[in-house]
Amino acid sequence: MSLRYYLEALLGLLYPQERSCMSCRGLLPETNSTDKGLPASLLGILRNEGAWLEDKGICFRCRSSLSPIEPPYCLLCGRHVPQPGHCPECERETSFVLSRSYGKYEGVLRDLLHRFKFSREDELITILASCLHEAWDLHLAHFPIDWLVPVPIHAERLKERGYNQAERLALHLSSYTKIPCLPALRRHLHLKGQATRDRKERIQALQGTFVCDLQYVSEIQGKRILLVDDIYTTGSTAEACAKGLMDAGVEQVYVITVAR
Ligand SMILES: [Zn+2]
Ligand SMILES: [Zn+2]
Repeated sequence: MSLRYYLEALLGLLYPQERSCMSCRGLLPETNSTDKGLPASLLGILRNEGAWLEDKGICFRCRSSLSPIEPPYCLLCGRHVPQPGHCPECERETSFVLSRSYGKYEGVLRDLLHRFKFSREDELITILASCLHEAWDLHLAHFPIDWLVPVPIHAERLKERGYNQAERLALHLSSYTKIPCLPALRRHLHLKGQATRDRKERIQALQGTFVCDLQYVSEIQGKRILLVDDIYTTGSTAEACAKGLMDAGVEQVYVITVAR
């Protein structure tokens, strides 16, 4: 165990009222601890490399385990591939131009997304949105996008969950990019047992599930849309949404997610 580990644990004992890391729930000392008489030498060690990441509410250890997908990427779905080109799953036609994600759906990122989606831990949005902003800067900022469109959830699920996690992410990305967000898609069916289907079955089952809301058709026709979601798994949801948008007369659809 590192010196930093002990120092952070010590700070936790000294200042039990401090905030905790939103990921591991370890104590997160505040940057103004100097006012509380902590020796400058200890502060120097704790503060190096922006160790506390105060603004995000996440500790150094958790932050360092959140890492972007490494290049080269599959040209279509953005997963890491050994050589530039397409991954085996992407040897096919899709309704979207490309999809990019911040990181792999595993470890800390998986845990954060799961808690954000199912445990209504809304405050996790700050970390997840900053991952999305990084993915935007890295992969999509140079594309001329007109609208951000969140992947919708069914009204029933919205009632259960209280919010649509994709919409929350899209709104944050909208304020970051200054590109307006439009809830242009509607979800018709409440599908069950999706996890047990294979990719082809999922795509078939989702056909016609996502349609463009009639009141927004004129806004999106001939425009370039960035579809926003939390996770890209098989790509079947992205495909069904992109198809719905293309059928309504959209020019191009791109996809961004936090993880894949
Ligand atoms: Zn942590
Ligand atoms: Zn691929």
